[in-house]
Amino acid sequence: MERQQRQSADIPKWSALLVEAVNKPGLIMKAYSAFHSFSLGNQLLALVQCLMRGLQPGPINTFPKWKDLGRHVKRGERALVLCMPITCKRRNENGDDESDGDGTFTSFVYKARWFALAQTEGIDLEPQVTPDWDAKRALAALDIEMIPFDSIDRNCQGFARKRNIAINPVAQLPHKTLFHEVAHVTIGHTLESDFADTEKTPRNLREVEAEAVALLCCEALGLEGANYCRGYLQNWLYQGIGYDASAIPEKSAQKIFRAADQILRAGRLDIDEEERAH
Ligand SMILES: [Zn+2]
Repeated sequence: MERQQRQSADIPKWSALLVEAVNKPGLIMKAYSAFHSFSLGNQLLALVQCLMRGLQPGPINTFPKWKDLGRHVKRGERALVLCMPITCKRRNENGDDESDGDGTFTSFVYKARWFALAQTEGIDLEPQVTPDWDAKRALAALDIEMIPFDSIDRNCQGFARKRNIAINPVAQLPHKTLFHEVAHVTIGHTLESDFADTEKTPRNLREVEAEAVALLCCEALGLEGANYCRGYLQNWLYQGIGYDASAIPEKSAQKIFRAADQILRAGRLDIDEEERAH
């Protein structure tokens, strides 16, 4: 994965968006309910721009899409900027295009192309419904198996081994623990080692990544556990010398958003197999 330099200085970094989400309860839920057809990073980008411009957050579409929906963009409205992945071909030494799948890479560009409902007028739209999410469906789509909980450590809430996870049947916050363990697998932590999570699990970057994914997922879906994750992450941001917003590296923030997106998309009941694979 390669990433282009951000084109515009006023677009916040992923780590900054994540810190916003940690410090502002309800932000992710608002972004998810308004913009769930976009990636979480883009949801937050859209929400931040709407808030800055005093626009009511709501469905966003491109100019032609609004036209299809029977609405038009009001005169003088400025488009919202979102981040789009583009697939590029890598050229080999002879300058020929490589034809196999490995010959491509993904890059990201920022495009000003979208308008919020509040920037348009025309026929009324059906109100949006936040899609339902199903854990079984998500695990199947992510190729993760739920195995019986066999830990004898009573403090253990759950664990992740390779592509298996287990949740303590009496876990205090089962959804939160599920997202946390799935995140360990999705981010690739379990390729490196196994994870058994107790209240005494040391605070390291991999735990921060898993807990941040759990925060994003719990908040987006309105499930219990977000406050616990928030406390954990705020603690991380207040290490030693005091508040340090850069305590979450940009690279980790990217992994966190990508994993949370994958998990949310994998369990959505309103989209079919093929759409979920993207
Ligand atoms: Zn963990």
